[in-house]
Amino acid sequence: MSTALLWFRRDLRLDDHAALHHALANHDQVYCTFVFDSGLLGERLQHGRTGSRQVSFMLATLQALDAQLRSHGASLIPCFGLPLTEIPRLAAQLGAATVYANHDYEPLAVQRDHEVSQALNAIGCGLRTFKDQVIFEYSEVTTQAGTSFGVFTPYKNAWLKRLTPRDLSPWDTRANRHHLVQHQAPPLPSLADLGFAELAPQDLKIPAGAAGAQTLLDDFTSRIEHYADRRNFPAVKGPSYLSAHLRFGTLSIRQLVAFAHQTPGPGAQTWLSELIWRDFYQMILWHHPHVVSRSFKPAFDALVWDNEPELFAAWCEGRTGYPLVDAAMRQLNQTGYMHNRLRMVTASFLTKDLGIHWRLGEAYFADQLIDFDLSANNGGWQWAASTGCDAQPWFRIFNPVTQSEKFDAQGNFIRRYVPELTRVPAKLIHAPWQMTSAILQALGVKLGTDYPLPVVDHAVARARTLARFGQLRAAAEPAPATGE
Ligand code: FAD
Repeated sequence: MSTALLWFRRDLRLDDHAALHHALANHDQVYCTFVFDSGLLGERLQHGRTGSRQVSFMLATLQALDAQLRSHGASLIPCFGLPLTEIPRLAAQLGAATVYANHDYEPLAVQRDHEVSQALNAIGCGLRTFKDQVIFEYSEVTTQAGTSFGVFTPYKNAWLKRLTPRDLSPWDTRANRHHLVQHQAPPLPSLADLGFAELAPQDLKIPAGAAGAQTLLDDFTSRIEHYADRRNFPAVKGPSYLSAHLRFGTLSIRQLVAFAHQTPGPGAQTWLSELIWRDFYQMILWHHPHVVSRSFKPAFDALVWDNEPELFAAWCEGRTGYPLVDAAMRQLNQTGYMHNRLRMVTASFLTKDLGIHWRLGEAYFADQLIDFDLSANNGGWQWAASTGCDAQPWFRIFNPVTQSEKFDAQGNFIRRYVPELTRVPAKLIHAPWQMTSAILQALGVKLGTDYPLPVVDHAVARARTLARFGQLRAAAEPAPATGE
């Protein structure tokens, strides 16, 4: 009888699962495990209560997965510690011939898998890994010269050209599901067992587990035709809200891309582009692991940031005096989610209005977002800071007032998260400091007391940023010849 161990990581589902398909097809006994990585969780613990939202979502999803496994006569074996010791220990204990897992493209995960593979080989066991969380990986989509893309649109065109029905066909995991077996194991831990403060149920607004993913997908299916028109307006239900599920793999990317590809209309086509962005940033991270700590474009590492702590605190806490920025940050702090348009606006504001290094904002988002994903978060931050994969030059600087007027014209999103401004009419809500004292008095709003005055003047900050980037360019380019 041949035994295998399935190691779940960011693929917490049973359907259309590449590694599970191969394990079930090649072995008549398949055990399942998840490692609560003490290294990764320890890092999160340092961030305290708020950082636990993503862990909370992950735990609820693991509980749902365990329940699903139990309905098939199996169970999830929780391990606690470092995968490098836990996976070989469990494989030896179960007598597994092979450990199965899906590819992970983060630099630390690549290193971890290499080390685990060596440790398994040393005990006569193997590690087999598969492409699962993206449609195209590594160098499957390259330029005609065979190099990796650094800009999205040509990547997307090449990606679409390469796509065939085979890339989207699901991995069957049903035919051999009776090969799943149970093992006596401790119950899954609670948030408190892992050292995190418990969250109130209302703190987790995204429904977890495969059932939660299906609920969101069903809802989005009825709205996808409007996606292109509504996706940029945070006050309306435009996007899918599936990002945390894509992060933890409760849904298969093949299923979602097939759905988008088959659905006619601009809504589905635009949504497909977003899923391609996800592949793009995973590819960038794999080809350019230096982006984790440095700029994608190395010249921008020389930028000198102001990094003023008080301004950073005002940004984090949603009290910059720019209502759309503040509403967005409060949405993040209260729900663990932020609308995509607002991620761009707040990231631009931090880097280009406040002169604060994108890495500080990236770390804050990583701590707060339920959907935090290293590749998408790093890519998004470097895009906004103009140090990354953006076809636009660095002098594109979002104006937080015109963004507000354009994407939250009625101020409905602002009022949801900035109740201090509830009574301010739509025309005035985007730049409250422009209200006369008579209007302020009539509305009962005291600027600087009820709601902050702007922490910076956008026009001044913009000029400062142009100078910051301009200096860098001047330093990088040789001085023009004088003609003498
Ligand atoms: P939808 O609009 O429904 O999009 C569908 C899916 O496409 C998303 O769930 C996501 O998986 C993918 N996607 C969409 N836009 C992008 C993008 N620009 N890059 C990569 N994938 C994308 N996304 C994350 O999943 N995790 C992050 O940590 C993250 N951090 C970000 C930080 C910044 C500064 C910026 C500008 C963007 C970030 N994004 C991140 C991308 C994007 O904002 C979110 O994926 C999106 O808002 C999630 O909402 P949704 O699922 O409703 O998206």
